[in-house]
Amino acid sequence: VNPGGQQALATAIRRTVLDRSRAANVGHIGSSLSIADILAVLYSGVIRRGEALEDRDRFILSKGHAALALYSALHLTGAISTGELEAFCTDGAAVGAHPDHTVRGIDFSTGSLGHGLSIGAGAALAARMDGSQRRVFALLSDAECNEGSVWEAALFAAHHRLGNLIAVVDVNGQQAFGYTRDVLGLEPLAAKWESFGWDVREVDGHDVGALTEELTEPSVDGRPRVVLARTTFGKGVSFMESAIEWHYWPMSAEQYERAVAEVTA
Ligand SMILES: [Mg+2]
Repeated sequence: VNPGGQQALATAIRRTVLDRSRAANVGHIGSSLSIADILAVLYSGVIRRGEALEDRDRFILSKGHAALALYSALHLTGAISTGELEAFCTDGAAVGAHPDHTVRGIDFSTGSLGHGLSIGAGAALAARMDGSQRRVFALLSDAECNEGSVWEAALFAAHHRLGNLIAVVDVNGQQAFGYTRDVLGLEPLAAKWESFGWDVREVDGHDVGALTEELTEPSVDGRPRVVLARTTFGKGVSFMESAIEWHYWPMSAEQYERAVAEVTA
C-alpha cells in the first residue's frame, strides 16, 4: 500500500465532498471530512472488492449522514460514475443524503443511527456460516456509542468471536448538538470496548500508515477488533474544525472557495 497514494485519495475525497456539498447546498460536511483518511485507507486496498459477491468484503457506513464522503471514495475508486455522483441530492437520484443499497458499491442502507454494528455482526456471522473468508468493516460515529444497540452488538460479536468483524469508531468528540463530553460522556472509551471482549486499537484517525496497520493486521485470537480513530471534526478546513455548526450547515460561495483552497494547499 502506497501511503502517498492514500493521502492523495484522502485529499481528493475532501475536495469532492466540498464540490458536491456546495453544488447540492447540503451539509454534513464536518462529519464527512473527519472520515476522509479512514475511507482513503479502506478504499485503497484494505477492503477486498470485486464482482464475486461471496468473497468480497462488506462495508457499512453506520454514520450514514457522512454518505457524501463514501460516494466520493466510491467515485474516485471507480464504483460510481461522475454522472451518478453529480446527481447527489437531486430529485429522484439514488445518491442521496444517506447511503442506499441500490447504489453500486453500497450493500447496506444506513442513516438511522446505532444500527450499523448490529448489521455488521450479522453479516460477519453470515460469512462464517457460508464458510467465506470475507470480512466486515463497520464505521461508526463516536456518538452512536450513546445507543444501547451498539453495545448489544458488541456483546454478540465478542460472544461469537467474530474475528472477521472490524469496527472503526470516528472519535471526533462531537455530535449534532454538542461535544460528546457535554452531551453524554464516552470516556474511557477504550476500557469500555475492552471490557466487552474486543481487541481495541487506538490511532490518530488522520495517520494513514497507522490506520493501515490496525485495519489490515489479522485477528490473532478470534476477537472482533475495534479501531478507535481519534479524529478532528471538519479536518482540513480551519473554520470547520471542531465547530459544532458544521454538522448541518452548507457553505456559502465564499466559504467554499476558502475551504477548497485549504484542503488542496
Ligand atoms: Mg462524532
